[in-house]
Amino acid sequence: MIRQDFSRIDPKRRTTLDHRKKQFATPTYQNLEYKHRLNFYITPPTADITLEQFEQWAIDRLRVLAELEACSFRNKSPSETAEHMKPLLQKYLPLSATSSGSSNLQAERQKDHYSHFILRLAFASTEDLRRRFSRVETMLFRLRFQADDLRDRGAFVESLSLDWETVGSEERAMYAPQLQAAGGGFPKNIEEESYFKVDWERVPELVENRRVFLKGGMAYVPGREQLSMVVAEFTSRLEKALELTSRALPRLDEDDRLTPILNHLSQNFTTPDASYSTSATALPGADISARNVDTLSASFPLCMQNLHRSLRRDAHLKHYGRLQYTLFLKGIGLNLEECLVFWRSSFSKITDDVFNKEYRYNVRHAYGDVGGDSNRRGNGYSPFSCQKILTEKRPGPGESHGCPYRDFSVDNLTALLQQVGVTDREVLKGVKEDKEKTKFHLACNRVFDYVHKQEIKKVKDDGTWTSAQLETLVHPNDYFKRSYLLKNLGKNPVEEEMEKVKPDVEMED
Ligand code: SF4
Repeated sequence: MIRQDFSRIDPKRRTTLDHRKKQFATPTYQNLEYKHRLNFYITPPTADITLEQFEQWAIDRLRVLAELEACSFRNKSPSETAEHMKPLLQKYLPLSATSSGSSNLQAERQKDHYSHFILRLAFASTEDLRRRFSRVETMLFRLRFQADDLRDRGAFVESLSLDWETVGSEERAMYAPQLQAAGGGFPKNIEEESYFKVDWERVPELVENRRVFLKGGMAYVPGREQLSMVVAEFTSRLEKALELTSRALPRLDEDDRLTPILNHLSQNFTTPDASYSTSATALPGADISARNVDTLSASFPLCMQNLHRSLRRDAHLKHYGRLQYTLFLKGIGLNLEECLVFWRSSFSKITDDVFNKEYRYNVRHAYGDVGGDSNRRGNGYSPFSCQKILTEKRPGPGESHGCPYRDFSVDNLTALLQQVGVTDREVLKGVKEDKEKTKFHLACNRVFDYVHKQEIKKVKDDGTWTSAQLETLVHPNDYFKRSYLLKNLGKNPVEEEMEKVKPDVEMED
């Protein structure tokens, strides 16, 4: 499904393909017609798309899935999740109802269809990824099913030709007391509800919550529980399909166009990656200077607060810590001269001569003021995202880089959080649980939400910030910027900057 002109396959490798695999080489390329808004993703896509679309569509879907997963980890209720996800879905994965008459229907549905299959390839490799993918895709399907236009939804369910056996009126009357008991007394008149019979294993949620009558291995499901049945069917088909995909994956190794993209996508599922555009960091009216870093540090995420505290304690930081912190400071808008002043004054135990010989160059290099091709954009390196920090080498003795939520023991992490003013027992308990589940960036978001809870409530109540502006933080510089804006609400023109509070997700080269 990728256009050949974007192929990066080494021509020599093409000729060595096993002739027995020719059965996979003659697909019929065609555009599917999408009659329904919802999709069970049964038919794989076969039309051409470009590599750029392949990558971008997958990234957009991943952003939605990662945010859905974050909502569940943050214990948002279904209605809060729906509210939170609405603008994100509209931005990254819009899917209009057939009745909307939108001219983009086919394009939107194609993107939804293809992005699902691309991520299916990316997440089929391990059991853990398969389980998580199936869970979040099910959440997405459920959200869309509930929001679907009634007529669209009915037509979609009918198109699935699910083998649910309709319970006839005689049988319904025979089991009326049991059916009503399972429905908590509803319906009052058994004739008012339709029932389907399905194997009880297909509706585990309903069985577990005792919402269905069971007889002879069959569950009698009332029509109003259609959602549970359709969702259970979606999950079971997806799980089977993921198993099949995982077995087919080794063949993809031959394709060196796709394998790096797919690997990057699956890595991205651990912590969504984000790049930070330093041009979007300006905070008008903010005093971003060497002398003000101590004050600004109140808005830093824990990784940077830890670096700042270590620097103040030792008047020194080791190499990786300096790099992580310098790039962060650059990202908050500290210019090169001020950054040099900051480091020079912070390394108070050494002479000017030592500073100039051993440290000045590295700071200038990080800003792109000096350096060779690794400094490819001329602006130096980009500030590190959480993903980069969380996948880089852990700090050794005497080092302070990394992420405290990952690198500190629970006791040390709790102590550090208490030192920076996070003393609430529930929050500390939640952080501990997040850490145990290796959801480090969610622990960080939990602390952010706690520290800024009054301001967040205010902007939500006033309607001045949309939920897209409050989506899960995945970059230390976003953390700072959002924190600064919230703590300075109404004080200066920074609110105009709120539009830029979230940078676009971008794949690294
Ligand atoms: Fe820093 Fe990200 Fe860790 Fe938060 S999750 S402390 S921003 S690396």
